Amino acid sequence: MEKIRIAFFDAKDYDRDSFDQAADRERFDIRYYETRLTKETCALADGCQAVCVFVNDDVDAGVIGELEKRGVRLVALRCAGYNNVDIQQAYGRIHVVRVPAYSPYAVAEHAMALLLTSIRRIHKAYIRTRDFNFSLSGMTGFDLNGKTVGVVGTGKIGRVFIQICRGFGMHVIAYDKFPAPDSGIEYVTLDELWQRSDIISFHCPLTDENRHMVNADTIARMKKGVVLINTSRGGLIDSEALVEGIKSRQIGAACLDVYEEEANVFFHDYSGHIVDDDTLARLISMPNVILTSHQAFLTKEALGNIAQTTLKNIEDFLQNGMSPNEICYKCPKVAQCDQKHGEKCF
Ligand code: NAD
Repeated sequence: MEKIRIAFFDAKDYDRDSFDQAADRERFDIRYYETRLTKETCALADGCQAVCVFVNDDVDAGVIGELEKRGVRLVALRCAGYNNVDIQQAYGRIHVVRVPAYSPYAVAEHAMALLLTSIRRIHKAYIRTRDFNFSLSGMTGFDLNGKTVGVVGTGKIGRVFIQICRGFGMHVIAYDKFPAPDSGIEYVTLDELWQRSDIISFHCPLTDENRHMVNADTIARMKKGVVLINTSRGGLIDSEALVEGIKSRQIGAACLDVYEEEANVFFHDYSGHIVDDDTLARLISMPNVILTSHQAFLTKEALGNIAQTTLKNIEDFLQNGMSPNEICYKCPKVAQCDQKHGEKCF
């Protein structure tokens, strides 16, 4: 049987390890490339049926046209979100599959890790004690017990985060564009969520509609000293408004695993360079901002699941012309289609 050839972009050591472990070498020929997928690098996919990409590979109209020209049939995202794909351009031309769930625990637990680190000043304590500075000055935190947390997006990750928060004795309120009936979750309007929450955590996808849902106007409506946690997508927050909100003390702390301009910096070592993103530099310089570089997904369990699901998606598609994990292209049929009909999208 002919092997399935995959051009794997933005490959990191941990990707190779997990995919090499999951892939049967008799069935898959994976060509790993460190470079991102761009119009210029599409040529690396020549002879491949599929490309495998991650969150910061921009699958725009130019890339789609180039892949189509080169005979690539499938874009396999090894992540859940697909805001980096121009789905309207893809429809009818190239199929796109994703990994809708791999470990909601990985992301939800990271969100809580960021929150605890921030409010108990663990990041400061780690550095102090390594320098034999055992002073507690400036280290006062606050209890999570009894605080109100507002969760935006109550899907797989949001719900695990809610469970974790309840374990800490927090009061949970939530907003979701499609609230889940009978879930036992107290849904409120977004406006109420901004006003009542001591802590707000984002677990919804980024869309054109909610880009910059955190902006100067919404920040002004939040409780003074609110803690924001974003492990979802950077574009949900207007970073400049965030900086201003922190400077004015309206925002008490920010815990960020994502950043709207992350594509230019995250996943690379710039320790010996001058980073020219002033907003990012300003955020990192603030003592009440904690930033990780989109690593919430990075657990052994999640990497294993990502590799297995991605390979299964590719195999399903190449064998049957469809995969249960094909994205919704919001095509003209969308009104009558819930993607459970077992028919091909195109
Ligand atoms: P999910 O699809 O299970 O849940 C998303 C929820 O958001 C759904 O309940 C949906 O109804 C809701 N929603 C959709 N549009 C909304 C809107 N405009 N406002 C409020 N709610 C809205 O997804 P998930 O697996 O829980 O993942 C959530 C997000 O987490 C993903 O979209 C992705 O961006 C992000 N993510 C980040 C990492 C990371 O490593 N940092 C890893 C995985 C996922």
